[in-house]
Amino acid sequence: MKRTAVVGAGIGGLCTAILLAMRGQTVEVFEKNDVAGGKLWGFEAEGFRFSYGPSTLTMPWLFTEMAEQSGLGADILPYRRLPILHRNIFADGRSIDACESVSSMQQQIRAFSDADAAAWPHYLRDANRLYDLAMRHFFTRSFTRLREFASLPLLRAVLATRPQRSLSGYHRLFFKDPQVLMLVDRYATYVGSDPTRAPATLGMIGHIEYGTGVHYLPGGTVGLIHALLKICERLEVDVHTSSPVSEIVIRNGIARGLRVRGETVPFDAICVAADVGYATRHLIATDAAPTLWRKRVTSGQLSHSGFVLLLGVNRRYDHLAHHTVFYPSDYQGEFRQLFGQPSPLKDPTIYICNTSASDSTQAPAGGCNLFVLVNAPANLEPVDDATWVAYEDHLIDLLEHRCGLPGLRTAIVVRQRVTPDDLATRTHTFGGAIYGLASNSVQSAFLRPPMRVRGIDRLYFVGGSTHPGGGTPMVALSARLAAGLVDDELRQRR
Ligand SMILES: Cc1cc2nc3c(=O)[nH]c(=O)nc-3n(C[C@H](O)[C@H](O)[C@H](O)COP(=O)(O)OP(=O)(O)OC[C@H]3O[C@@H](n4cnc5c(N)ncnc54)[C@H](O)[C@@H]3O)c2cc1C
Repeated sequence: MKRTAVVGAGIGGLCTAILLAMRGQTVEVFEKNDVAGGKLWGFEAEGFRFSYGPSTLTMPWLFTEMAEQSGLGADILPYRRLPILHRNIFADGRSIDACESVSSMQQQIRAFSDADAAAWPHYLRDANRLYDLAMRHFFTRSFTRLREFASLPLLRAVLATRPQRSLSGYHRLFFKDPQVLMLVDRYATYVGSDPTRAPATLGMIGHIEYGTGVHYLPGGTVGLIHALLKICERLEVDVHTSSPVSEIVIRNGIARGLRVRGETVPFDAICVAADVGYATRHLIATDAAPTLWRKRVTSGQLSHSGFVLLLGVNRRYDHLAHHTVFYPSDYQGEFRQLFGQPSPLKDPTIYICNTSASDSTQAPAGGCNLFVLVNAPANLEPVDDATWVAYEDHLIDLLEHRCGLPGLRTAIVVRQRVTPDDLATRTHTFGGAIYGLASNSVQSAFLRPPMRVRGIDRLYFVGGSTHPGGGTPMVALSARLAAGLVDDELRQRR
């Protein structure tokens, strides 16, 4: 039986391990932290429960299918569809409750623009078309073999995705009102990028949300990790926590094993589910990786990071939905700053996830658990702690005055901040860039860091920093592709 190692027990690493085990392989996962989960972890204090990391859950079937196939059943992931996808509150106080009902969306958008309301169904249809193209042609290919590129249907699909347009240019085909545009342009931040430069193909996110729903896992998102670990256990995948890998051992162009806990452990194949930029810099000897590869994955512009406050609050704010987004008056200025200057944003978009709005287990009665996230530039130089302490204070002012949370400061019972540097240290995410390299060019959808390095056999990259991209569904799709690649290549070697 062939043995595969997976480096990193985030969502990408766990899904890859599960899918390989289902194909009959012996799999071991090595995770540097003492818990699995990577960018998704749980935190509890004083009766408040938080999940740091992903909160907007989409395409749940990518995970429930694995649960079913493992024999445990989809019930271990009891996803619930949220009636309000997200509440969007603009700087002038007007708002849109994003929901799947076309007529309700049209009615709400009519308050901003009649023409935009009329365009809504056309937008949804086109977003659905982009999604179908992506599912058929882009998410089924790892783009690691030349023959995968040489395909007429693929070329047709690329041309049909409006490859010359940015995401925001794409949205302008349908909408004119600046606030309606903010609602959809925000999708660029789902891959840490700037809507004026990100590719139009991301328009498919509109279909993912409005066509297939935004979901919640009762008990908190961290339940996804608990379920994936149960599946691993069922399939006899060994997940070794507190096991930092210090080197991928490569000899004569073949990945042969890992250096872990001072030992060299041989494997038949190695999947790196840690950040590609980090792994290339720190786990692969300089002379083992081709210069071109190293340059490609280490020199691009980084996606943005995030600054997070986890706040346990002993009162409720009823205008907060499960997900609420407060937009600033200068939304485009946010992206100029994110990708132009390395300091925290003064007047950022503020996203609040308040799971206690739909799950009473998340906070003591009469209280709420607020996961507050603002975009922040990825930083190559650590920002000093005093800057973040002052920023936290500034954000609480904004929450009280801009977001309508009066008395917040004195109602906080539990408080924890997670800076971009904390994320970088905890998960080895280079620069704290949540999605690895930014998708800040119209070609970027087709140019993610690849899943294989030409010149090194038996080594594969998987997860949010590689193809097809970040976010929980893309990471699950990346795992499918990686498991397929490894399995095919190991079978050929038999
Ligand atoms: C604040 C925030 C909000 C987000 N919001 C959303 C959202 O709403 N919806 C959504 O879909 N996505 C969201 N995401 C993105 C999503 O969380 C990620 O895309 C996804 O979790 C990445 O998973 P991964 O397995 O690729 O990487 P990671 O989770 O980074 O896993 C990599 C793992 O490798 C381990 N590792 C690194 N180096 C080593 C080593 N040398 N040895 C052993 N182990 C190592 C790390 O410790 C880590 O556990 C968010 C992310 C963040 C940070």
